[in-house]
Amino acid sequence: MEFLDKLTKKASETYKGAAEKTSKFAKETKLKMKISDNKSKIDDIYEEIGRKVYQKHILGEDINIKTDLEEECKQIDELGEEIESYHREIVELSNGKICVNCKEQMDKEAKYCPKCGTEQPEEVKENDSIEVEFIPDENIEKSTETEEQDENKTE
Ligand SMILES: [Zn+2]
Repeated sequence: MEFLDKLTKKASETYKGAAEKTSKFAKETKLKMKISDNKSKIDDIYEEIGRKVYQKHILGEDINIKTDLEEECKQIDELGEEIESYHREIVELSNGKICVNCKEQMDKEAKYCPKCGTEQPEEVKENDSIEVEFIPDENIEKSTETEEQDENKTE
């Protein structure tokens, strides 16, 4: 099974070839722009948090994260998660993967992280479902004959 998987993978990788490199590069650039965009948004929020803390200081009040900074912290969380998923996409574009433990980038085939040594889980492909893909009737004109034959066979 594994051997076949590898063969198919290799064939399709070769097939994809150079034509995709250009679009890969474009995609990567786009993702990197999104990441730096998110990072500057996070910096803005940090600034806002700092301002709020200082205002509290001026007023001689205590700051309460839950009531005063909840919204800002949530936004940073979300932006950070987005950055992570963009980063993952970039790594996948260059045929790599990210360590489940330390997020170090490594070769897709690597079993252990070169940085922290954590064993990486085997990639689970979602082939388990026996769901039959619905094929739209695009080819109906071409295949009318065979279809009729098939139907008549049941007699
Ligand atoms: Zn690691």
